[in-house]
Amino acid sequence: MTTTEALLALSHAVGEPHRELAILGEGNVSASTGTGRMLVKASGSTLATAGPDDLVECELAPILAILDAEAADDDDVGAALMASRVDQEAKRPSVEALLHAVVLAAGAGAACHTHPVSANGILSSDRAAIIAAGALFPDAIVVLGQHALLVPYLDPGLALARHMRAAIADFVDRHGTLPKIAYLQNHGIFAIGADPAECLRITEMADKHARILTAALAVGEPVFLGDDVLDRIENRADEHHRRRVLQGKR
Ligand SMILES: [Zn+2]
Repeated sequence: MTTTEALLALSHAVGEPHRELAILGEGNVSASTGTGRMLVKASGSTLATAGPDDLVECELAPILAILDAEAADDDDVGAALMASRVDQEAKRPSVEALLHAVVLAAGAGAACHTHPVSANGILSSDRAAIIAAGALFPDAIVVLGQHALLVPYLDPGLALARHMRAAIADFVDRHGTLPKIAYLQNHGIFAIGADPAECLRITEMADKHARILTAALAVGEPVFLGDDVLDRIENRADEHHRRRVLQGKR
C-alpha cells in the first residue's frame, strides 16, 4: 500500500458517519512521505470522500519557519502554507497543517485530527482535564500509552501549533516518548502514530475511552487504574505481543 492509499484509507474510516468523529470539512490527516515532507488533507475537503487530489504534499521547513516568525498573521500563514506545496497546482493545505507539521517534525509517521462527539462532550465541559487523567481499562494503556497530552483552547493555526510544539517537547523530556494522543479543549483529539493504521487504532480507542469515561461519570466517579497496574501492563510480555499483533507483526 502506498502512503497515499494508507492515508486515504484512514481518512475514509474516520469519516464514516456512524463513528461520529467528523462531519463536513472537519478533521484532517497527515503522513510523512520521506525526509522533510508530508501529505496532508486539503482545506475544506471531507474525510469520508477525500480522493488523491484532496491530499497535498508539503515541505515541512517553510511551515515550521512561520512558527518562529516574530509577527506572522493569518495572511503570512496562508502564504507559507501555499508556498510549502511541492506541486504549486495542488489544493490549499488545511490551516491545521501547521499542527501536523509540528507532530511529524517531532518524529511521528502520521497524525489524525478529528472532532469526536464522545471526546468533545468531555472536552467542552468544566471537567475537561479528566479525559487525560488516567487509564480506565487495560487496552487503553496498550493503544494510547500511559500518558496523554491535554492542550488548552487556542486559536487553530499559529497559536495552537506553537503551543503544541512546546508541549510535545516537554512531554518527550518527561516521558522519553511522543504522546500517542493529544486532547484539545473545546476542539477535538489528535492521534499521533507511526503510520496511518496506528492513527486509526488510537482514534478508535480514544473514542472508546471517552465513551466509557462519560458512562462512568454518569454512574459515579471514575476509578482510574493505579501506577502499579500501568507499569505491569507496560512491561508484560503478553502485552508486548498483543501490541505487535495489532501492528501486523508477530
Ligand atoms: Zn480541528
